[in-house]
Amino acid sequence: MIQTLTHPTHDDLVRCATTIDLSDPLLMRVRRHLEVDRCETCGTTVHGLLSRSVRAIHRSPLLRRWIRPLHARSRTGTRVGAAADYQLVCSVGPFALDVLVRDCETERELRFVGQVTHAGRIHEPVAELALHLIGIPAAPADDTATDQFGEFALSSARDGIYGLRLGAGLDAPCVMVWEGWEA
Ligand SMILES: [Zn+2]
Repeated sequence: MIQTLTHPTHDDLVRCATTIDLSDPLLMRVRRHLEVDRCETCGTTVHGLLSRSVRAIHRSPLLRRWIRPLHARSRTGTRVGAAADYQLVCSVGPFALDVLVRDCETERELRFVGQVTHAGRIHEPVAELALHLIGIPAAPADDTATDQFGEFALSSARDGIYGLRLGAGLDAPCVMVWEGWEA
C-alpha cells in the first residue's frame, strides 16, 4: 500500500535539528519521519542544517540520544584515493560494539564491518540482533542483523551522518558511526 507522506514544515525541521526541547512530541514525530519513513527530502534538509559544523551535530536534539564511540584512525591512506579506516569501539547497554569504518573516497562509499558481543563477555557474540543504519539523509535498504558470530556488514553513500541502531524499535540504543571524520 502506498501512503502519502506528511512532511514536517521547514520550521519544524529547523527546530528539531537545533533547539527543540527533548520532551516535545514533535521531536518523536520528526524522528519517525526520518528513521521510519526515511524521507530523503527532509533528511537532506536536516543534513544541510547539521553538516555546517561538528558542534551542530553534537548539540542536535535529533541526535542527542546517539552514543559517541571512541574512535581511532587505524590506517592512513598514503596514495591518492586510498581508503582510510576508522576503528570504533563502545559499550551499548548489554552489548559491546566493535566497528571498522572504511572510507572509500573514490567510490564515494562507506563500508561498516563489525561485531556485537555481550558486554563483559568479550568473545560471546550476539547473534541475530536487528541492526538499522540511520542515515541523514536516509540510505535505502539499510537494515540487517548480526549473523551467528555476531558479525555484520553494511554500506552506504559517503555524504551523510550515520548512526547504527542496535535492536528493533525507535528507542533501541544508537551509536554514531559516521559524522565525517575526515574533516
Ligand atoms: Zn519529508
